[in-house]
Amino acid sequence: MKNLKGEIWVYSEEKETTYELLGEGRKLAREMNVTLSAITVEGGETERHFGFGADKVYILKGLGEFEAETYAEAISIIAKEREPEIILIGSTKRGKELAPRLAAKLETGCATDCVKIYLEGEKKELIVERWIYGGNALAKEKFTKKPSIITIPPKTFEKPIYKERKGEKVEVAVRVSEPRVKVIETKKREVGEERLEDASVIISGGAGVKRKEDFKILRELANMLRGQIGCSRPIAVDYKWFPEWIGLSGHKVKPNVYIACGISGKIQHIAGIRGSKIIVAINKDPEAEIFKVADYGIVGDLYEVVPALINALKRRFRGKTRKFTENKPLNKTF
Ligand SMILES: Cc1cc2nc3c(=O)[nH]c(=O)nc-3n(C[C@H](O)[C@H](O)[C@H](O)COP(=O)(O)OP(=O)(O)OC[C@H]3O[C@@H](n4cnc5c(N)ncnc54)[C@H](O)[C@@H]3O)c2cc1C
Repeated sequence: MKNLKGEIWVYSEEKETTYELLGEGRKLAREMNVTLSAITVEGGETERHFGFGADKVYILKGLGEFEAETYAEAISIIAKEREPEIILIGSTKRGKELAPRLAAKLETGCATDCVKIYLEGEKKELIVERWIYGGNALAKEKFTKKPSIITIPPKTFEKPIYKERKGEKVEVAVRVSEPRVKVIETKKREVGEERLEDASVIISGGAGVKRKEDFKILRELANMLRGQIGCSRPIAVDYKWFPEWIGLSGHKVKPNVYIACGISGKIQHIAGIRGSKIIVAINKDPEAEIFKVADYGIVGDLYEVVPALINALKRRFRGKTRKFTENKPLNKTF
């Protein structure tokens, strides 16, 4: 590996997000002619980081389970020594706790939930873009201090193609202070079979679904399409029928097919589904905003349309193996 001046760092506790950030970091590192490094902890992944683009992996020794305060301190210690230009952090729950703490320790800026990162003009100024005002406007921002700390939501960028390659491993022993917050207990969260971010088909219900039990028809459709169930925020936050939701304040999803049933299409919901390849909307109101972003719109009562879709699919699959595969979107004729 060439000894380049300057570094871009990538950190996320989620492997898939780390790989996505390495893919984007690689493009920037090439343009800036700097080294791309991943940060991990003892016992964490290293070899695959190289395969997804890292030139170097820093292995922080002496850290236990994730604790935002101690991880921020540890990363800040090595950042002060090695002065990276940019630090890319996955905008996961933990990443969101870590990034601002790290920025405060390094007395630098932190741009959160960025959806675009690029260099602009002759000076190659680092620019980020992110949705603001509840997803109503896209802000373009630049940094005036280094390192530039940027958080990026999972699935914002494509995971790069894995290539067998070697890199440098740097073990760093860090001594951090006692955290001021002590975790007494952690409980496993109840979630679906698969992360919503990873689902290739999502059948999502909104306030148009009248009762929790009625989600069973959506689930039947999801089972036929090997999909996952999702919902809008009122279903989770107001009615408490599900623990998580999709949108600006919830999960950002990128399935091949997103079927919105009884969802009006408010901007905060749309902010979470923009990356879907195909959006199908079922809504009885022909003026519903969701139709503005839908690739296919069905004006009708979801209690009639969804069972009709299930029956159509049953007829189609009768005697055949189901053919809805991971990366193959539905075609127009269902
Ligand atoms: C700061 C902030 C963050 C937010 N974050 C999110 C977020 O992350 N995700 C999110 O979803 N929302 C979020 N919201 C809330 C958002 O503004 C909307 O209130 C919410 O998305 C509306 O959910 P809905 O479409 O399910 O319900 P509604 O807006 O009530 O729409 C229900 C729809 O169902 C249709 N309908 C009714 N009956 C039927 C039927 N039988 N068949 C077919 N259609 C039917 C109606 O025509 C209507 O269009 C946020 C709001 C704020 C202020």
